[in-house]
Amino acid sequence: MKDAAPIVSIGHYICGQITAPDGEVTQAVHNPATGEHTGNVSLATVETVDAAVAAAKAAFPKWSNTPPIRRARLMNNFLALVRQHKDDLARAITVEHGKVFTDAQGEVERGIDIIEFACGIPQLLKGDYTEQVSTCMDDWTTRQALGVVAGITPFNFPVMVPMWMFPIAIAAGNTFILKPSPTDPSASLLYADLMKQAGFPDGVFNVVQGDKVAVDELLENDDVKAVSFVGSTPIANYIYEIGARHGKRVQALGGAKNHMLVMPDADMNKTADALIGAAYGSAGERCMAISVALLVGDAADKLMPVLKERAETLKIKNGLELDAEMGPIVTAAARDRIKGYIDSGIEEGADLLVDGRDYTVEGHEGGYFLGGTLFDNVTPDMKIYREEIFGPVLACVRVASFAEGLQLINDHEFGNGVSLFTRDGNVAREFGKQVQVGMVGVNVPIPVPMAWHGFGGWKKSLFGDMHAYGEEGVRFYTKQKSIMQRWPESISDGAEFVMPTAK
Ligand code: NAD
Repeated sequence: MKDAAPIVSIGHYICGQITAPDGEVTQAVHNPATGEHTGNVSLATVETVDAAVAAAKAAFPKWSNTPPIRRARLMNNFLALVRQHKDDLARAITVEHGKVFTDAQGEVERGIDIIEFACGIPQLLKGDYTEQVSTCMDDWTTRQALGVVAGITPFNFPVMVPMWMFPIAIAAGNTFILKPSPTDPSASLLYADLMKQAGFPDGVFNVVQGDKVAVDELLENDDVKAVSFVGSTPIANYIYEIGARHGKRVQALGGAKNHMLVMPDADMNKTADALIGAAYGSAGERCMAISVALLVGDAADKLMPVLKERAETLKIKNGLELDAEMGPIVTAAARDRIKGYIDSGIEEGADLLVDGRDYTVEGHEGGYFLGGTLFDNVTPDMKIYREEIFGPVLACVRVASFAEGLQLINDHEFGNGVSLFTRDGNVAREFGKQVQVGMVGVNVPIPVPMAWHGFGGWKKSLFGDMHAYGEEGVRFYTKQKSIMQRWPESISDGAEFVMPTAK
């Protein structure tokens, strides 16, 4: 019999050192493909968070005063190291999250995009200058770093989502504290080490592992100037409210229920491929997964048999097997929650075409697997339509017209992503204009904006004003200062008692 691998201890990364203070509570980490207990992650106390904040605060003056081009050079070193260790990071994702290895590699790639963007920070921080706003007077605006900033991130992208945040924040001159999800914490220590190897001074990038205790201290500590959050809507709302109450800048990205509207003129083969990938990729645990298909007119009759056949034949296995299309669900609790949603869909009268509830994978009987699940004839009053399931469950709703489908999308409380499949340019144009959703795809199932465009939904999918990454990311992590200047020879004598006007 094979010996069980040792259970590793997963600590914090503070001021360049991995630490796991004695007496801290820990949480078990599992491999979702096997159910094996693989690690214990420390959960930070208030004292541990305060130590990280103190380290980041101490590093800030020198780091923010380092010329942007030199900060960018270190970011370039980090970029090269992340590329070099892409597969190590991807493996760390797969064994704690469960998504298939090739998808995990893709996740790292999307993180790399943001690091590349952050390497352009000298250009991005370049201010505006107006010569001669008044006689012999010039005015310019510059953007300066905020100080210590924090990122609180979800389980579903343990590499990419933190990389939406810290490369830009740090390149802009801030020091950073990451609080990853305790469900899959190991990748954070791998890239913390790569930041060290890249040459970032100790204290510039820190990781505190933890739960609500750590989050609450980050929200309340006066030395933390801004908080970026990505996770579920109730927690996003909480972070936004408590952070604002403590005078912090907050961007809090929440949950989603992304629809795909399929017109009868769409290419049905390509639409079926797109729906299967977008609904079941990463077991539906993506904030941009498609969880509702709105099928207009006879699109349903053409599409449902194909969807059923493809959902039944998904290759579901341990994500480390290279031909796997879908891996397990992240935890046993998440699997049971998703099963509960499938039960409720049946109770409320939807037609269950493919039932993934009792799916097992040979040799992985302890893993948290579910099969792809497909419902037809879902109606908008059903819980499986209204709520975010965050699992491999696709709800198909039959609608009579484009207008009816659009109305449903616009009435939904979430507005993260949406997609339209059609061959008609006018329909696509109207859709783009009228849809009340932050990220829109036309014949693109998962329209995640590229690094320089910024990411963010509308309605209950984003609390705050600024989207993640792109130029909005740079604005979020910096504050504008305007400087007006003139020199004594050009200042006329005598005090002025009226509003100054341009002379
Ligand atoms: P979550 O909200 O449970 O956790 C997110 C973070 O908040 C974690 O770091 C967690 O430790 C912390 N947290 C959890 N409960 C808390 C509490 N009571 N008080 C303070 N902090 C708390 O989310 P999750 O389950 O890790 O991730 C899945 C969710 O994230 C889904 O709803 C998904 O749609 C969403 N998500 C959104 C986006 C987006 O860009 N909008 C991207 C990825 C994931």
